[in-house]
Amino acid sequence: MRYQRSSQLFAEAEKVIPGGVNSPVRAFKAVGGTPIFVERAKGAYLYDADGNRLIDYINSWGPMILGHAFEPVVQAVIEKAKLGTSFGMPTELETQIAALAVQMVPNVDKIRFVNSGTEACMSAVRLARGYTKRDKIIKFAGCYHGHSDSFLIQAGSGAVTFGSPNSPGVTAGTAKDTLLATYNDLTNVETLIKANPNEIAAIILEPVAGNMGCIPPQKDFLEGLRTLCTAHGILLIFDEVMTGFRLAKGGVQELFGIQADLVCFGKVIGGGLPVGAFAARNEIMDYLAPLGPVYQAGTLSGNPLAMAAGLAMLQTLNNDAAIFDRLAQKTAYLRAGIEKVLTANQVVFTTNSIGSMISVHFDANPVVDFQSAAKGDNATFKKFFHGLLQEGVYIAPSAYETWFITDALTYEDLDFTIAAVDKVSKTF
Ligand code: PMP
Repeated sequence: MRYQRSSQLFAEAEKVIPGGVNSPVRAFKAVGGTPIFVERAKGAYLYDADGNRLIDYINSWGPMILGHAFEPVVQAVIEKAKLGTSFGMPTELETQIAALAVQMVPNVDKIRFVNSGTEACMSAVRLARGYTKRDKIIKFAGCYHGHSDSFLIQAGSGAVTFGSPNSPGVTAGTAKDTLLATYNDLTNVETLIKANPNEIAAIILEPVAGNMGCIPPQKDFLEGLRTLCTAHGILLIFDEVMTGFRLAKGGVQELFGIQADLVCFGKVIGGGLPVGAFAARNEIMDYLAPLGPVYQAGTLSGNPLAMAAGLAMLQTLNNDAAIFDRLAQKTAYLRAGIEKVLTANQVVFTTNSIGSMISVHFDANPVVDFQSAAKGDNATFKKFFHGLLQEGVYIAPSAYETWFITDALTYEDLDFTIAAVDKVSKTF
């Protein structure tokens, strides 16, 4: 496949946009080469500026769980756009999506909509700090919660891909209030809590990590965090920006039967439009302005196009009892196929998956935290990525990302992908 026109478009973009992209990991810096410029997408496929058709495993980094340009979402947006694109005033639609989200997610009474996952996590932490009257938070190395200052401490995803997990521009004062723990290591968390008595407002984590590859929590990790939080008056924040409405209707809280105090959403909840949200029980949510003292706001928050897209998406997921099983079966099929061909081709690898999230790591050891994720062989990953691209399979241009399986992928697409992995891995 040729990507000539994409390269030309990238050269033009670089003149007027820093690095040619509006979000760093799109730039292919970690894998070399120039990014693909997309023209349109439908179902499981991307159609790029050179006329190539690619099977998409990124899916806008998560939102398109039903495939691209899903008809009910597109129609809902078109119909709403005709009535005005933003009012900055309440609409009935906001109550409808809020009611549905609160019904689908366990253990929450109210939800506030924002414009991105970053905003959701940033606001949830502010609320936790205001509510507990404490300053510090614990986050885990390799977990990504958006690019707001207090999270850019050993962040995963693009931040680590570009070697800036601790970004310049974050003040020492901010950094000192973020304590860093190791994913899947309860003892480490306990030590931090003991060393900072009555100072920790919240523990925030991806309850299934997706920004250092896909790393499910080990047995008792989430339960252990819940117990520690309850014992020490700390709020447990599940960042379900990736996992929310993806791993189950009610996200990881439902999947593992564990209650968080605050839950953050993004991606799927907006159906591909800019939406984030955070939710909790009344006693916490009522601490927010205008009811309570913690301030949080947004000109475009609850925007009608975004809410229409999100509502169409959530309604579809809510009405399809088999969707999450269907997705998990496809993931398991793909994982087994990839494992079979990589083993046959004597490649050293580990795969992780849960529900519709899967990652392939080029290292023999189990990948359970950031340190083990970082051991993957990046030279092999680069060959893997570019080889798949030549075959028409588009995975994320970084070894720290998760692949997202969509309902639009057929078993023929999965077989095609497994055959591509076979062909490419013979050349390692
Ligand atoms: N939290 C998690 C778990 C994420 O995966 C992301 C984005 N990849 C974010 C927060 C930030 O969301 P956004 O990019 O919409 O700001």
